[in-house]
Amino acid sequence: MWAALAILLLATLVVLHLRHRQLLSRLQRKHLLDLEDLQRRQQQTLTDANAQQQVLFNSMLEGLLLLDRNQRIYLANRAFKHLFQLKAELRGKTILEALRVPELDALVQRVENDGQVFDYELKLPDLNEHWLRVNAAAVFNSAGGRDGTILVFHDLTRLKQLERTREEFVANVSHELRTPLSLIKGYVETLLDGARNNPEVAERFLKIIERNAQRLDLLIQDLLTISALESGRMKLNLHAVDMHQLAEKVLTDLHGKAEARGTTLANQVPALLAQVDANRVDQVLSNLVDNAIKYGRTQGHVTVGGRQSDSGMIELSVNDDGPGIPNEALDRVFERFYRVDKARSRDQGGTGLGLSIVKHIIQSHGGEVWAASEVGKGTTFYFTLPAGNKLPTPIEPE
Ligand code: ADP
Repeated sequence: MWAALAILLLATLVVLHLRHRQLLSRLQRKHLLDLEDLQRRQQQTLTDANAQQQVLFNSMLEGLLLLDRNQRIYLANRAFKHLFQLKAELRGKTILEALRVPELDALVQRVENDGQVFDYELKLPDLNEHWLRVNAAAVFNSAGGRDGTILVFHDLTRLKQLERTREEFVANVSHELRTPLSLIKGYVETLLDGARNNPEVAERFLKIIERNAQRLDLLIQDLLTISALESGRMKLNLHAVDMHQLAEKVLTDLHGKAEARGTTLANQVPALLAQVDANRVDQVLSNLVDNAIKYGRTQGHVTVGGRQSDSGMIELSVNDDGPGIPNEALDRVFERFYRVDKARSRDQGGTGLGLSIVKHIIQSHGGEVWAASEVGKGTTFYFTLPAGNKLPTPIEPE
């Protein structure tokens, strides 16, 4: 009896032990599966984070370069490759191998020593002037050890170009102002030194002074107009304007000047409507007709023409039969202070700003301006303006 009981107990224990082992191995298997799942999810999260990081870096406007602790490229974003015009894979290369810009390599050595370099201006050694601003700093890991270097590149080229244009403009303005001013000063001193006692000489000198004062006045007016146009302060007062009538007014205003050079003026603009600021377009036509009289030949002909152009625009033209403009100068005449013949322009009281004002006004109306010329035969300036379709506003004398 006791023996049977003992056997039963033993059998129960064995069964229990087996059950327990079964349970244990099931649990272990589950645990293993959970662990694998966790690892898989962690890997996925890492891959997602890397992809997000890449998208983020590639969406940056600034160029970004990450170097590892051996100064080899670990990551270069899209903007960086674009700035340096690179297509090849850069990972693992040194700066010198990838870019061949020793100045940048020297910059990385400076970061190695000093920990950071900010606002470093780098001119890339290519044909077109290409400027970058570089900010660079060492990267450290959580234990404080050196992990690598990060470099951020901003494109400064446009800013540098604007800076140079501004400097040239200021230099030109100073020169243009100084020329008439020093003439005025010189003649006033000569008058004060005794020339005023000779009425004939005094009158001649005073006329020169008057002419140069007028030139200064014109120059300042033109500079103020350019400044107002460029800053967007000049608001256009748009109306439907009859261009035949406007051309007639301009030709009447310039009649005296044309007569003095024996120039014949003709208005061949048909009854065309334009949706424009009448005063500004008056300024455009006056400038072009005035130039045609000034730079055209004496006893010449100046004609203002017009036609309906395509896509809702009208085209106007001012033609002369003067000496013309050489081909290479045709586009440049619209630049500020550019003159084909400096002495001639100054003699005629020109400021060198007329055509750049014309270009600004036409562009602010959404039109275009250009010139065509044949040396020895004459010049035609063309410009387009938006066509008007409402009733014209009568042109009032200013
Ligand atoms: P400016 O005050 O010197 O007349 P503009 O900007 O009006 O300045 O003109 C720039 C230059 O373009 C002039 O100096 C002149 O050399 C040239 N130009 C303009 N219009 C004509 C034309 N109709 N015929 C020949 N040259 C012209």
